[in-house]
Amino acid sequence: MIEETIFSKIIKHETSADVLYQDELVTAFRDIFPKAPVHILIVPNILISTVNEVKYEHEQILGRMFTVAAKIAIEENIKDDGYRLVVNCNKNAGQEIYHIHMHLLGGTLLGPML
Ligand code: 5GP
Repeated sequence: MIEETIFSKIIKHETSADVLYQDELVTAFRDIFPKAPVHILIVPNILISTVNEVKYEHEQILGRMFTVAAKIAIEENIKDDGYRLVVNCNKNAGQEIYHIHMHLLGGTLLGPML
């Protein structure tokens, strides 16, 4: 069985988080340790632990993650200056939370990717 993470509790409102958006597929909330002036996590409401577990049946959810990223970029006023979307997978990428999530980072010049 796949183990639930703190993100499941945030999705179910069982623990506090600055939730910006939620619908039947995804939830978006501010990162607790922001690495940029805007740092938001967009997560599927169902537990998919890493990108390696993504299946064709998840495509609607994954598409919604991008739609919500674009919507939040407008709301956070970072659309035109730009932003970065990051999804880490497993240890070499530094994945800490095993519930896939898209980082939306912006609000400053982010510099080179690595
Ligand atoms: P990863 O390294 O797995 O791609 O990113 C995990 C992110 O989750 C990190 O940026 C970390 O700051 C954030 N994070 C970890 N625990 C919590 C939490 O309890 N609440 C919130 N809002 N963010 C968290």
